[in-house]
Amino acid sequence: MARIIAVANQKGGVGKTTTAINLSASLASARLNTLLVDCDPQSNATSGIGLGKDPLRNSTYKLLLGECDANSALQKTCLEHLSVIPADNNLVGVNFELIDIEGREFKLRNGLAPLSERFKFILIDCPPALDLLTLNALVAADSVLIIMQAEYFALEGISALLNTIERIRAAFNPALEIEGVLLAMFENRTNLSQQVTAELKKFFGDKLLTTAIPRNVRLAEAPSHGKPVLLYDPKSRGAESYIQLAKEIIQKHNLSGSVAFPEAAQKEEKPVEEAREEKKEGEERKAANAPRGWRRWRERNKLITIDLT
Ligand code: ATP
Ligand code: MG
Repeated sequence: MARIIAVANQKGGVGKTTTAINLSASLASARLNTLLVDCDPQSNATSGIGLGKDPLRNSTYKLLLGECDANSALQKTCLEHLSVIPADNNLVGVNFELIDIEGREFKLRNGLAPLSERFKFILIDCPPALDLLTLNALVAADSVLIIMQAEYFALEGISALLNTIERIRAAFNPALEIEGVLLAMFENRTNLSQQVTAELKKFFGDKLLTTAIPRNVRLAEAPSHGKPVLLYDPKSRGAESYIQLAKEIIQKHNLSGSVAFPEAAQKEEKPVEEAREEKKEGEERKAANAPRGWRRWRERNKLITIDLT
């Protein structure tokens, strides 16, 4: 059964889409089949994962309107275990087109139901509004991942979201949990962020996730290359922090796995070792009838695997 997580905060620009893209990519790199659902008419998750904005393609919009089924809306991405249901700006019309339709709050839940066995995680990127799209995401979800910045007024904006979650529990989705509260664009060094973090810890307790995402320019650059940061710059602090977040979530749900990412740099070796290696390479190369340098090339391009268990 898929764990469906809505990535939400009605406040704009806090890091929802960056988290939806990079957390789903990190989960997928742990070889857990993961789906990213773009539920925002801005379609930033769609373009950030490398897909163009095509209004004719099957999409979240068509899924919500019952014009396509979920399986036919799946698009492949640059990661083997990551699929996406893309959005385009037609999606903005859903708020009006579904307004008088019975069961309008359940459209996404029903639409995603056939995918439950196919994926381990389904992440829904929500728009910056408490509108019918976010409502659909929260009704479809098992849990909500709240993205926040460690700002002075952070908690004020969050009360509207917590009220909405309460109302959705009462009316549509009693099992809706808080997956966690994630601090994004975090600057550990400032006194203010330390103070705000302490306040948030008091308020949210265990729900405040141990991992915080630092402000990191690679995270801001990656979407313009249509890649998750894991592929754009796997050694950046941004990539490391989202892998750490994936580990935290995987461990929370007792799912074992491993994270694999391309490793560019090679280990420094002692000259004696180097000579021995060269000799070995020569022999292996001869045996495999391969060109000079093939072994080093193979080493450089192999996938490094980190155990999460
Ligand atoms: P919206 O509410 O408009 O959907 P959002 O909450 O999805 O916004 P993002 O689009 O993820 O927020 O991020 C807002 C901007 O901040 C983007 O330009 C993004 O590249 C940048 N950004 C997000 N997280 C980080 C980070 N940790 N470090 C640096 N830049 C970041
Ligand atoms: Mg967004």
